[in-house]
Amino acid sequence: MTRRADSVRLLCLDVDGVLTDGTVALDDLGHETKRFNAKDGLGISLWRKLGGEVAVITGRAGLAVRHRLEELGVRHLYSGSHDKLLDLRSAAEACGVPLEAVAFVGDDLPDLPAMRACGYPVAVHDAAQEVRDAAAFVTAAPGGRGAVREAVEHLLRTQNRWNDALAMFASAPTPGTRAGASAGASDERPRSA
Ligand SMILES: [Mg+2]
Repeated sequence: MTRRADSVRLLCLDVDGVLTDGTVALDDLGHETKRFNAKDGLGISLWRKLGGEVAVITGRAGLAVRHRLEELGVRHLYSGSHDKLLDLRSAAEACGVPLEAVAFVGDDLPDLPAMRACGYPVAVHDAAQEVRDAAAFVTAAPGGRGAVREAVEHLLRTQNRWNDALAMFASAPTPGTRAGASAGASDERPRSA
């Protein structure tokens, strides 16, 4: 598999340790909560607004991820995945994208088969060493701390499209409208956490 960032069209993401810092928080009733990073949300939003596809593949099941992805407009969620490579293939097929044009961002050993099969494997900074070794790009940020946002910027810069992302924030907002600076950030609402 040739590792080429410039042809990537589908961004596949793991959840625990990639979109989160890996913490699995359970309350007294056993309900799981997750903490997501707004920078990653913006990265996903930018990628989608520029025409990219996003799929999320996670070995766990839970509503928190589903709620967050609904906020971000991500429709391709594979939760409770027992075979990430199988689900990677399904996501690629659903999006009409060849595996060579898929980037997968992972952090731990269950991600390795999907990373080895995709066109552009990415590891977060605090990924397992084997995952870092398998990656074409390792982010400076750890999981849950903007690593996905960084991966998106890396892909867009490689594809000479980063200026297109910046252009979304170039014009001054017009009073009484949602135009201008809100274009890329409109999916993000202020959060107290
Ligand atoms: Mg993980």
